Amino acid sequence: MVRFDGKIALVTGGSRGIGKACVEDLAARGAKVYFTYNKNDVAADALAMSSGAIKCKVSQTDDLLIDETVQEIIADNSKIDFLVNNAGITADQYIMMMPIEDWVKVFDTNVSGAFRWSKAVCKSMMNARSGAIVNVASVSGLLGIAGQTNYAASKGALIAFSRALAAEFGPRGIRVNTVVPGFIETDMTAKMPRQIKQQNLDRILLRRFGKSVEVARTVTFLLSDDASYIAGQTIVVDGGLTGTVA
Ligand code: NAP
Repeated sequence: MVRFDGKIALVTGGSRGIGKACVEDLAARGAKVYFTYNKNDVAADALAMSSGAIKCKVSQTDDLLIDETVQEIIADNSKIDFLVNNAGITADQYIMMMPIEDWVKVFDTNVSGAFRWSKAVCKSMMNARSGAIVNVASVSGLLGIAGQTNYAASKGALIAFSRALAAEFGPRGIRVNTVVPGFIETDMTAKMPRQIKQQNLDRILLRRFGKSVEVARTVTFLLSDDASYIAGQTIVVDGGLTGTVA
């Protein structure tokens, strides 16, 4: 089992779903884990209590607060080894009915959030000439899914952002990669109408939605030294949804 003793990790959107599974997996391997969340104090409290991880209620929009949070973590630990840009939201709607506010909100969380946190940690990682960042995108950024122009465009942008960041950081010893989950059993997919769920299940080779821990293990792998020569890559974890013609 890969161990992360002495490593400092920060996971955005870590109180529920895939982010929570990342927090739990990293903490179980010995890392000191900080996680951000948006508004669900109950879920964040429960996770902090059970995993020993440290909650920081920082939403993705406050640049000053993000910088302060990173500076506090560095002041306490003298470094940040890992960043997982996981926080993401959907606001699905056909474009005719989609208010511009939902377009902006989804981009601000899913793309600008990753920009803000990556910018905030980069100085410390560059000084250390080491570190690893994983950005959590979505198959929606690879496939055309109706009703998701905002989400799909944001995740496509995140994949491109991640590659460009990998090019900037790679020569400084920092690896940046992207994990692209397919349909995963979380609160985000729980609200999907039954008929749509079944249609998607029929297109997945493994005929089931994934579990958060199956994404988290891939994130863990990419952060670890087992992936020491992997940079600028996009790894799809989707049960075979995008690999074949169904
Ligand atoms: P989720 O169950 O809805 O959980 C979202 C997490 O992000 C929660 O911890 C939430 O905090 C936090 N969050 C939301 N907005 C935030 C903000 N502005 N600032 C900080 N934290 C925020 O989501 P999920 O399904 O685990 O998805 C996690 C990531 O995987 C997202 O980027 C999503 O796009 C991506 N993804 C998910 C799937 C899927 O099928 N589930 C598929 C592909 C990609 P609160 O608890 O406070 O609300």
